Amino acid sequence: MDRQERTLPALGTRHVDPHAYPSGVAYLDGQFLPMSEAKISVLDWGFLHSDATYDTVHVWDGRFFRLDLHIDRFFGGLERLRMTLPFGRERLEEILHDCVALSGHRSAYVEMLCTRGASPTFSRDPRDAVNRFMAFAVPFGSVADAEQLERGLHVAISGRVRIPPSSIDPAIKNYHWLDLVRGLYDAYDRGAETALLVDADGNVAEGPGFNVFAVQKGRLTTPASGVLPGITRRSVFDLCAEEDIEAVAADLPVAALRSADEVFITSTAGGIMPVTAVDGAPVADGEVGPVTRRLKDLYWTKHKDPAWSSPVRYG
Ligand code: PLP
Repeated sequence: MDRQERTLPALGTRHVDPHAYPSGVAYLDGQFLPMSEAKISVLDWGFLHSDATYDTVHVWDGRFFRLDLHIDRFFGGLERLRMTLPFGRERLEEILHDCVALSGHRSAYVEMLCTRGASPTFSRDPRDAVNRFMAFAVPFGSVADAEQLERGLHVAISGRVRIPPSSIDPAIKNYHWLDLVRGLYDAYDRGAETALLVDADGNVAEGPGFNVFAVQKGRLTTPASGVLPGITRRSVFDLCAEEDIEAVAADLPVAALRSADEVFITSTAGGIMPVTAVDGAPVADGEVGPVTRRLKDLYWTKHKDPAWSSPVRYG
């Protein structure tokens, strides 16, 4: 017995977790578990190296919203990272349905993720690691709270540069969030509620968990590159096509954001969310604008449309 083992009399018994978790159900290593019991090894590369990809879909009023698009994006990320799941799309869908059904949530934030996993020998070769899939369903959460959704968020533009696409392909949804989290603290220090980061050319990029749109003279612009191609962003383009509203993906200079008629952000965690102040100055008259309101209403109406949503199999 080595010295370390002798000083660990409780070895083999489980420690008491001091943290609390939201109610929900996770799928991990082939089992469904309460969130409080969903734990992974500290040797997992997902934790040690952020070597993971994931996707988040939401359930609203008992229906998944655009689940197919989220699963497509997840499989795209897995392929680019050379990770594999031990099952196919049908089983993945079944697991996601089961997580929600077992949780009992009618509105949920549902995440599917895959880490590089751990290697039995702690090898430094990622090919030796056994990929690990997980999923979970917890109550629906939003970037903006009810009050912020009503009056619009106050954002600060952080001078920080979002991790460039030449380093990490942003289409691989990832946990490289240190720039975003530091941006958030910059924003809090300046009295704002959330942050927008810029790209290497100084144009607006994205924020912690969301894309951004500016509306100028009825025309929408969202950054074209260096951002996650969000499913909510895509939904805005789809709604604009249906409503005959002009929308483009192009460079979005900071000055254009400041002088916009309307600004909103988009995320699975909250949908279409108005922004009414940038760096302490009101966007136009500081009120939530008509284009934002209309798109937001249409977006939520689509949650009942079978072409855009599908019922959870509660069983
Ligand atoms: N950008 C980043 C960095 C994100 O993490 C997210 C979502 O988590 C988004 C944008 C918005 O993407 P979606 O609309 O698919 O939720």
